[in-house]
Amino acid sequence: MVDTLHSQYQVTIVKYGTRSTRKSDVYLNFPLYHEDDEPIGMDYFFWILQGKDRTVVVDTGFSRRGGEVRSRTSLADVSELFSAFGVDPLSGPDVVVTHAHYDHIGNLSLFANSRVIMARAEFDFWSSRHAGRTMFHHSVEDDELDYLRRVNDDGRLVLFDDGFDVAPGISVMRVGGHTPGQSVVRVDTSEGVVLLASDAIHYYEEYERDMLFMSVADLVAMYEGFDQIRELVSGGDVAHLVSGHDPDTLSRFTRAIGEYSHLAATIGTLDGASRGMAS
Ligand SMILES: [Zn+2]
Repeated sequence: MVDTLHSQYQVTIVKYGTRSTRKSDVYLNFPLYHEDDEPIGMDYFFWILQGKDRTVVVDTGFSRRGGEVRSRTSLADVSELFSAFGVDPLSGPDVVVTHAHYDHIGNLSLFANSRVIMARAEFDFWSSRHAGRTMFHHSVEDDELDYLRRVNDDGRLVLFDDGFDVAPGISVMRVGGHTPGQSVVRVDTSEGVVLLASDAIHYYEEYERDMLFMSVADLVAMYEGFDQIRELVSGGDVAHLVSGHDPDTLSRFTRAIGEYSHLAATIGTLDGASRGMAS
C-alpha cells in the first residue's frame, strides 16, 4: 500500500488555449471520408503529475507570441496556471517534452532549473535539413528550438531512444508519426493507468475512426501509434486515455477545484482516497 502511494500521481489536465476550425482543416485528405465538412474546436493543454515525492510537468504550452502569430486564443496566463495548480517552475520539476511543436515547448524557458526529457529522434530531427521545410517548419518557433539546444548544452536534456522511466510510476514511450519523436506518457494513478497521448491522438474521433491528423511526418507510424495504443487499452494496461487537443477531454474527467476549475480536470487523488467524499 505504502509503495503504491509513492508511485501514484494526480494527473491535472490544464486547458490554456483554444481555437475554432473545420474538419477539413484538421484531418488529412478529409474528402476521402465522403462526409460533410463541419466546424470543430481545438483546445490546447499541458499536463501536471503530482505525487507524494515529486512533480513532473508534461509539455509547457504555446508562448504568447507562438499563439498570437497563429491567431490562437489564450484562455489564461500559462505561468499563472502553473502556479495556481501548485507548480513552481524554478523549483526544477522534471519536464517531459512529448514533441517540439510550438504549442508544446513554448514556455520551456520558465523551467530554467529542470531536467528536460525528450526523444532523441525529435531533438535530432529539428536540427536536420528537413526542419526548415514548409510542412514542418510552420509548427515550430526557431528561438524555442534554440532554447532546446541550450538546454542540451547546459547538460539538462535527457534524450531517450524508445522509452524512458521518468520516476516510479511515470514512463514515456516514443511512438513517432505526428513528428519523428512524438511520445506518449504513462502515469500510475489511484484510478488506474493514464495514458497522456499528446499529439499521437489529437482527437478521440481521430483514434476511434482511424482518421489521420493533417500534420504528420510518417503516415505508417501514425497508424502504428493508434494500433499500439489500442492494444494498451484493450489489454487493460491503460484505463484512461487523454487526448492532446480534443475539446471533449476535460468533460471526461473530474473537474478540478479552485480559481481555474473551468480550465482543468484531474485523474486520481494524491492519497488514493476515493472520490465523492464531503470536501
Ligand atoms: Zn503537434
